[in-house]
Amino acid sequence: MEKTTDQLPTLETAQEALKKYFGYDQFRPMQADIISAIYGGKDALVLMPTGGGKSICYQIPAITLPGMCIVVSPLISLMKDQVESLRANGVAAAFLNSSQTSQEQQAIEDKVYHGQLQLLYVSPEKMVSQSFLPLIKQARVSLFAIDEAHCISSWGHDFRPEYKQLQFLKKQFPSVPVAALTATADKVTRRDIIQQLHLPAPKVFIASFDRPNLSLNVRPGQKRIEQILDFIGERPNQAGIIYCLSRKSTEEVAKKLKQRGLKAGAYHAGLGAPERSRIQEDFINDNLLIVCATIAFGMGIDKSNVRWVIHYNLPKNIEGYYQEIGRAGRDGARADTLLFYSFRDVTVMRDILMSNRSENLEVQLSKLERMQQYAEALICRRKILLSYFGEHLEEDCGNCDVCKNPPQYFDGTVITQKALSAVARLKEKVGLRMLIDVLRGSRRKELLALGYDKIKTYGIGGDLSAFAWQALIGQMINLGLLEIAFDQKNSLKLTEASKDVLFHNRKVQLVRMTDIKQRQEEQRQKVKPKTQRERVRDELFEALRQLRRELAREKGIPPYLVFSDASLEEMAARRPVSEFDFSMISGVGEKKMEQYGDIFIKAITSFIGKKSDEGVTLAGATQFQTLQLYKRGLRVHEIAQTRNISEQTVYEHLVKLYATDQGVDYKHFVNQKEIAQVVQVVKSITPPYKLREIYDALNEEMPYHKIRFALAYYYKRGGK
Ligand code: ADP
Ligand code: ZN
Repeated sequence: MEKTTDQLPTLETAQEALKKYFGYDQFRPMQADIISAIYGGKDALVLMPTGGGKSICYQIPAITLPGMCIVVSPLISLMKDQVESLRANGVAAAFLNSSQTSQEQQAIEDKVYHGQLQLLYVSPEKMVSQSFLPLIKQARVSLFAIDEAHCISSWGHDFRPEYKQLQFLKKQFPSVPVAALTATADKVTRRDIIQQLHLPAPKVFIASFDRPNLSLNVRPGQKRIEQILDFIGERPNQAGIIYCLSRKSTEEVAKKLKQRGLKAGAYHAGLGAPERSRIQEDFINDNLLIVCATIAFGMGIDKSNVRWVIHYNLPKNIEGYYQEIGRAGRDGARADTLLFYSFRDVTVMRDILMSNRSENLEVQLSKLERMQQYAEALICRRKILLSYFGEHLEEDCGNCDVCKNPPQYFDGTVITQKALSAVARLKEKVGLRMLIDVLRGSRRKELLALGYDKIKTYGIGGDLSAFAWQALIGQMINLGLLEIAFDQKNSLKLTEASKDVLFHNRKVQLVRMTDIKQRQEEQRQKVKPKTQRERVRDELFEALRQLRRELAREKGIPPYLVFSDASLEEMAARRPVSEFDFSMISGVGEKKMEQYGDIFIKAITSFIGKKSDEGVTLAGATQFQTLQLYKRGLRVHEIAQTRNISEQTVYEHLVKLYATDQGVDYKHFVNQKEIAQVVQVVKSITPPYKLREIYDALNEEMPYHKIRFALAYYYKRGGK
């Protein structure tokens, strides 16, 4: 269909739609620019990290431009999620894919035909199918959005042949803008996407990959289960994923957590499809909070309130690691990540890579090395991560373990000399484990058989734990004082630099290793007891979370589609009790206000009331003090006197309390005849109703408080 001369929307329109449909006040950096480009009819390539807010970039144009936006999306489960979430926000969205019956598909196609949709999600197969083209040729398409656009490139890690055929879009619809979006694309893939889609001169948008709401933590991989229990114990009721290396370990970890009374599930490719989707559903719906999984888990789900991610083992590269931790905190609220690291993990991973004999082994090994460097880093970890993706972070992030707990150096010259001299005496023939055993004077059979207990350095390091040695030797390797001969059974070798330490007294600075007990103790001392304010906030958050769960269950949708964690947090902190204040919460758009506003306001109000009964006065509690006096039977002027507030304020409180069902009876203040009079006036004027206007229309004869009560009564019955 031909483009008509409709007026193009402006950024102002976009901004209004953002609040109206999504409840957000502001675009994130870059979103507005991308939308502008699309409004201007330009093609766009958008690179943003997971959780960065890509969808808004095409959803807002879809809503505000005349016609329909078609979104190509490779994951059926994600498609369903997105459409549900859009519908929950009052957007006309639907999807078409092979999971639907032909009848269902027909119904959607009818809607397309009649121009009743703002967004249509389709699978790539559907998009390139013969039957689809004539349909969209008739429809009016405002934009094509290609999600997960890296699937088009055989260089990427997710190649999908159908994506290659999408080049017909520009040929068939030269004037319709195409937006290609992805979270992972290096330079080659980027170029490939543009070429394959035949985008003549696209605008390229590369957002920062920083996710400041994710905390980054690396801890020694020692007593992992115990550390996990501590970690989860500090985060009750929060959903999280524990990534493990193997199927077997997902099950083992889940089992150990269950033995300690936690509800945890294991998820891996070896399970049957029904079992897998059951676990996924339970996780999405907050019925199962902890999933121990291989990396396959999380790919096809859009759950925005994953609050933490733990890596039980070292991932094999930074790309994977970043993608996996990226599944936490997609709602923008705080989320924590924890990576366990031990030197042994590196050797295990190395062996796995070697035995796979993959083509680009060299590349993979060097990627593993970067991962290891990250885990061993002594500078801000976020700086390292971002620099890996070609970004430069000016300041230390303040939200990683290194920033929070800067390393403490000590003179490690003597310790290093002990280790190096043992290596020399062992003729550079042993690996890490044997070296440590020799240093610590182990009586291991193999060691004795080799006669290693006879060498001069045997047992000179018995004062340090094996774990401490491991960490310190790791540092020596990083400092270039030792090398690992991977081709000689990982045996340790001296270097030029180590000779300086052994023979020329070169000084060595090492970082003090705190062992886990000490660390836990330090942590405990650091944790400040919560203030009353924080406790109240947590309690309200929990109450709202429960409410969200019930509502979600009734509606059969995941809780995060009711409201995100970030929205609930804001509610718990700000305690909005008026419609206006509630609508100001980020994530509350018109539809959600309409659907859930009253229920949540009521819950917040009764929470404040409950606290007030417990003797805790919160902002917004003043009406409950009024309520208590009202319940004792005091008249309005008496309440006003006792509380030293005006009668008008007392009436305002009482109307609010009535409107939110807190036990005030309207009949004490207004009768049916008076209500009928007010309603009659209201029906003859246009909203918003001004009290003054109604007062005047009733010949200035009805007191304001009666009008207020009558209006509240009218609203409560849905304006009838
Ligand atoms: P992506 O597709 O890039 O992974 P999403 O589009 O799912 O990310 O967005 C991630 C989260 O951020 C969603 O919960 C989304 O509603 C929220 N979000 C997006 N844009 C904004 C904004 N301008 N203000 C507040 N939240 C936003
Ligand atoms: Zn940092």
